[in-house]
Amino acid sequence: MTDFKPLFEECSTTSAIYIAGPCSAESQEQLLAAAEGVARAGVGIFRAGVWKPRTRPGSFEGVGSIAFEWLGEVKRQYGLRLLTEVATPEHLNTALKAGVDGVWIGARTTTNPFAIQEIADALRGVDIAVLVKNPVSPDVDLWAGSIERIYRSGIRRMAAVHRGFTTYDMSHYRNTPHWSVPTELHRRMPDLTLLSDPSHIGGRRDLIATLSQEALDRGFDGLMIECHPTPDTALSDAAQQVTPDNLQEIIGALMWRRTPVGNDALRDFRLHIDSIDNRILELLAERMEVARNIGDYKKLHSMAVVQRDRFNEMLTAAEARAESMGVSKRFIHRIFTAIHDESVRQQIDDTERK
Ligand code: PEP
Ligand code: MN
Repeated sequence: MTDFKPLFEECSTTSAIYIAGPCSAESQEQLLAAAEGVARAGVGIFRAGVWKPRTRPGSFEGVGSIAFEWLGEVKRQYGLRLLTEVATPEHLNTALKAGVDGVWIGARTTTNPFAIQEIADALRGVDIAVLVKNPVSPDVDLWAGSIERIYRSGIRRMAAVHRGFTTYDMSHYRNTPHWSVPTELHRRMPDLTLLSDPSHIGGRRDLIATLSQEALDRGFDGLMIECHPTPDTALSDAAQQVTPDNLQEIIGALMWRRTPVGNDALRDFRLHIDSIDNRILELLAERMEVARNIGDYKKLHSMAVVQRDRFNEMLTAAEARAESMGVSKRFIHRIFTAIHDESVRQQIDDTERK
């Protein structure tokens, strides 16, 4: 799959691609106010959910096809490209008739190969932009497989959208980024446009700016950001939507840093290093979590926190293993001692617990 095309002719490789708009279309007034703000922020591609896949029944499930009349007005007044989410061939056909410029496939749909295949079949012979969000689980094969199904229907103007992954554990984010997953997708499909959706990753508007810069620094081609004229009254995803003024501020502050052309190898090495470092951080966080649980257990059973013999055994084994893998014994001694010290501190010092 090396003949992907840009989403739209105006999407270049020398600046970021921005898509913005509300989570859901709610009314014509709301859409026009959002569109005015999005256009003012210099964004040319407008998103709005018409049918919303909600976790629980009874939540707002979108206004349905009436929204296309309002979106038509958005296009007439502001000339924006229109994108909406489709989950079935019926959605797709309705959206196509309404003249949208592109569709995105949501995380829950990407998870289901039957649903994707039905949409792919309905896309045969259609020339439209298709964005595929990552599946809810961090499964790069499932994401790549969905992209391939759409590709095989003849679609070339495509993008993958990273929106984070569901996690059972308490997390800082609504959907954990697991950056190594989009990095691996990029390695497999370097010609595919790769976008990030900081709104659904963060779940909170105060996280959007940092996540956006991080995505650009990691080599993403652009961003999809949820923007609502009055976010607090939004019928879905209220906490993560930004106002138009906020959108303008965020985009204005973003830096588009790129290594010079011809330096793709260096960029790939760096992305790889970043993804390894990220895994190291995630593992350290996981290790500290286990250490705290051990701490609770030891307290309950009146055991001392430090069991010197156990640490010495672990260190000797790690050093021997490191040596056999060509890693410096001294280095591993320093790292493991530091990790152990921190684990002990976490077990002793209750005030560190969050
Ligand atoms: C959305 O973009 O509003 C949406 C529902 O996204 P996701 O499929 O990423 O949850
Ligand atoms: Mn949303």
